[in-house]
Amino acid sequence: MHCSRIRTALSARLDGEEAPPGVTPGGLAAHLAHCRDCRQWEIRARDLTARLDRAADRTEDDPAAVDALLAGLRPVSAEPAPVRPGAVDRDGGRAG
Ligand SMILES: [Zn+2]
Repeated sequence: MHCSRIRTALSARLDGEEAPPGVTPGGLAAHLAHCRDCRQWEIRARDLTARLDRAADRTEDDPAAVDALLAGLRPVSAEPAPVRPGAVDRDGGRAG
């Protein structure tokens, strides 16, 4: 089974929703047993969900907590790179 399907099911489970058709609890467990990437993904997703839940409680009185939370979610690489005229990246653009 593809990792993307598994992660969709994991996400649904975290949200208390039904797993997508064709994904059984047994199938999930079997995949997680041998796929370290998906185990790591679930740990991160669980942590993120817990942080969002806590943040939701806090942010009603503290708008700054929203900024702090969002700052924590942003990957470092997402910061805008300085744009220099004439500097064209001819190698980039197609990973994989
Ligand atoms: Zn996987």
